[in-house]
Amino acid sequence: MSNVYLSRFSGKHKSWLTKTEELFERAGFASLISPGDIVAIKVHFGERGNTAFLSPLYVRRVVEKVKAAGGKPFITDANTLYVGARSNAVDHLTTALENGFSYTTVGAPLVIADGLNGKDYVAVGIEGKHFKEAKLGSAVVHANAMIVLTHFKGHELTGFGGALKNVGMGLGCRSAKQMMHSDVLPEVVEDTCTACGDCVEWCPTGAIAVTETAKIDSAKCIGCGECTVTCSFGAIMVNWKTEPRTIQEKIVEYAWAAVKEKPGKVGYVNFVMDVSPDCDCWGWNDTPIVPDIGIAASLDPIAIDQACADLVNDTLGIVGRLERVDDPDKFGHISGIDWRPQLAYGEEIGLGTRAYKLVTIE
Ligand code: SF4
Ligand code: SF4
Repeated sequence: MSNVYLSRFSGKHKSWLTKTEELFERAGFASLISPGDIVAIKVHFGERGNTAFLSPLYVRRVVEKVKAAGGKPFITDANTLYVGARSNAVDHLTTALENGFSYTTVGAPLVIADGLNGKDYVAVGIEGKHFKEAKLGSAVVHANAMIVLTHFKGHELTGFGGALKNVGMGLGCRSAKQMMHSDVLPEVVEDTCTACGDCVEWCPTGAIAVTETAKIDSAKCIGCGECTVTCSFGAIMVNWKTEPRTIQEKIVEYAWAAVKEKPGKVGYVNFVMDVSPDCDCWGWNDTPIVPDIGIAASLDPIAIDQACADLVNDTLGIVGRLERVDDPDKFGHISGIDWRPQLAYGEEIGLGTRAYKLVTIE
């Protein structure tokens, strides 16, 4: 059984920022950091137009705690697969600045984990059902320790977006995200292809040939996703349709890969606030489905996500946002997805346990 520490938002006279600091202490995060450690603080900088992402105010308090423990923190995320305002480091850092993240506001440098164009990754070997290696943003692989700060909310592919999603999908490089998102092979949109040949250069299996347009040999293609990331004309289609259980298991394998080389060096904090029905990757956000609940911290990514899902399900919903305010499976009914497989699979591979003890901090 794992401890999940919870500081509820309700109650006056104590800042939610102070509660963040107290949780860091009570969850024992200072002991994860040795003097001189380079510490990745994993966040989501928020898509341009979205306002539900975690405020840099909270991030700054964690930065100060990491520094007090002797660590050298940096704030990080990896580029997105989809073409938005965070698909390369220039756009990503610009969006982060627009959303209030800078050295001045958070007190630490911002580093895009997989580099300028999503190709700075390290392949970490794993013995998973879906992957034998995980392509993770190099900055995080090389960091000594990691604190994962997650805005806990709904998600259209995984039911909810918690610590597992933040680490697993979030730290995969761009082509890794393609591999997690899709079980089918990419397709060339012939009308859009300019026959520039860039994708040929990056294809690891020689599956692409360019005549009048690019053509993919499905017998040779391994679905690595490099071509979808490389094509700057959007001529190689990203297929987002995949079976929900499969994508959950793939994300969990990536989360496992991201932390397996850092035993005893990773802590998770979930902020159960502004619980919007969809993820923060959209350029908008909807009103929350439940009132703000609190901040949770744990050393176990499975336990903390299970506890936060339970907290949302045990809290009366906001009138008008759900068919039933006492819906016992709010994320399941909003997304139409069973979110439990990610937790069950994470437990199966030894990433953590669904059995938790909730320790409430006053
Ligand atoms: S990179 Fe894109 S535009 Fe260029 S050949 Fe490949 S598919 Fe066509
Ligand atoms: S997905 Fe990978 S293997 Fe398949 S065509 Fe694209 S680059 Fe080549």
